[in-house]
Amino acid sequence: MRLLVVGHGRMGRLVESLAPEHGFEVAGVLDRGSNPGGSGVTPDLCRGVDVAVDFSTAEATLATVPKLAAAGIAVVVGTTGWQAREAELRDAVERAGSGVVVAANFSRAANVLDALVEQAGRLLRDAEAYGAFIHEAHHQAKKDAPSGTALMLRRALERGGYARGVDVSSTRAGFIPGTHTVGFDGPAETLALTHTVRDRATFAHGALEAARWVVGRRGWFTTRDVLGL
Ligand code: NAD
Repeated sequence: MRLLVVGHGRMGRLVESLAPEHGFEVAGVLDRGSNPGGSGVTPDLCRGVDVAVDFSTAEATLATVPKLAAAGIAVVVGTTGWQAREAELRDAVERAGSGVVVAANFSRAANVLDALVEQAGRLLRDAEAYGAFIHEAHHQAKKDAPSGTALMLRRALERGGYARGVDVSSTRAGFIPGTHTVGFDGPAETLALTHTVRDRATFAHGALEAARWVVGRRGWFTTRDVLGL
């Protein structure tokens, strides 16, 4: 299968180098210089491409994904920071009848954390004395805060029926690849669920697994669909 890499930074380079392990041949790479406003998505580039993996910027995703969808190319979107305009992107994908997997976090264990947080929210939703918090820490170059994963975890609490306020805080320092803690603090105890990334390769492997899964599917999917969670 032929893969287009969109964004050639920390994540895009990893996706490119790990692609052969997942049975992909890299058909092309789009980066800031070759794809201003999504203009790099040309019929020539798209010929024979089965799926694209996008780890770029929010603006680039909003400009590029509709064009890829219109060209009949399935897309895996790892980029974060565009979720306020999700309806617009969904609409473009649905109109094109293509397949897209989006996830703020492609690591397997972070998706397990998501399921556990939903359950913890359910178990503590009526325990008024317990307050919930989310803390995330990332490297200083990360653009969006709070992280897409922190927002995903807050939605998991809501799905579990936890309706009280949730304190969400962010740290940006050094080289931290990504740490998320969801905590519940009661009068005499704290429950803390923490996921720590040691190597960004976990995101790249997850995105490439999603890329294999989405080829031939139509619709808007998340890692919950890919992993069957
Ligand atoms: P990065 O800054 O290292 O790389 C971003 C790349 O996007 C750069 O190479 C830049 O040139 C490129 N770019 C800019 N405009 C572009 C355009 N118009 N077309 C194509 N490429 C363009 O960032 P990163 O650490 O690789 O992260 C990228 C994104 O992925 C961020 O939004 C980050 O939050 C997200 N991320 C998601 C996951 C996940 O599992 N979903 C994991 C890590 C990072």
